[in-house]
Amino acid sequence: MNAFRADLHCHSDCSDGSDSPLTLIHLASKAGLQGLSITDHDTMEAYTPELFQGALSREITLLPGVELSTEYSDVSVHILGYAVDIASTTFNAFLTEIQKRRVSRNREILANLARKNLPVTEDELTHFASRLEGKKTIGRPHIAALMVQKGYVRTWQEAFEVYLKQGACCYAPGKKFTPHDAIRQIHAAGGKAVLAHPHFLRRGFVLRDLLALPFDGIECYYAKLPKQQERPWVELAEKKGWIATGGSDYHGAFKPHLSLGCSWVNEETFAKFFLL
Ligand code: AMP
Ligand code: ZN
Ligand code: FE
Ligand code: FE
Repeated sequence: MNAFRADLHCHSDCSDGSDSPLTLIHLASKAGLQGLSITDHDTMEAYTPELFQGALSREITLLPGVELSTEYSDVSVHILGYAVDIASTTFNAFLTEIQKRRVSRNREILANLARKNLPVTEDELTHFASRLEGKKTIGRPHIAALMVQKGYVRTWQEAFEVYLKQGACCYAPGKKFTPHDAIRQIHAAGGKAVLAHPHFLRRGFVLRDLLALPFDGIECYYAKLPKQQERPWVELAEKKGWIATGGSDYHGAFKPHLSLGCSWVNEETFAKFFLL
């Protein structure tokens, strides 16, 4: 029997991963994982009865999760929500509101592209996303892919670097909730709130302010982050009494260098999400 491993961060084709939720279960099983959380951006559509059934039949324990896009002081902050009640009316209304705001934001990005003589219509975007499997959280990754398809750029990376990344000419932040809003909503739905990939936060005061919020955990083990770079986050988690979480941030073919299970947590950590 392999030692217990659970990957707590990956994306399905309900947001911007290339694999269906069920495929993720198969991949998790092949990778020898015993626990999994699919953490799509701003949607929990992955968590259908079929998914729970599929996980059960492969002896994988599924932890409901989501990765919420928030903003603090013009900096994008991702908050992971685990063990939220997937039937919560208030939480689902919150997710719907985020999706609505995304539609407006995509519209702004498309208007910026049009001004650069790189027209992409809303219809094209919707069509493009609907031809892909799964229910989509549509965002910049889809706009980037469409720009490649239309021959405006050679690669997805180029679309981000030149046009779509924060600070680039066609970027639009959109109207985002704050990290504290996200934490409140996660807690109200009985879940645990975790600060995702804190090492991405380059501005000191942002991290300082975020660490004062009522998180339950912080993501310490991430993708292929070198061991020595995990250490400070693990120590911080210990100091705060927070759960030291981890996962691959697997996106399938869209980030081919990352494999499911390349970062993980042990059974003791995983179990903390199932305690009330
Ligand atoms: P959105 O939710 O629409 O803001 O898009 C966020 C997603 O875009 C992230 O999860 C990444 O997959 C991708 N992304 C963000 N910034 C970059 C970048 N600089 N290069 C490539 N992909 C990026
Ligand atoms: Zn993503
Ligand atoms: Fe993220
Ligand atoms: Fe992610």
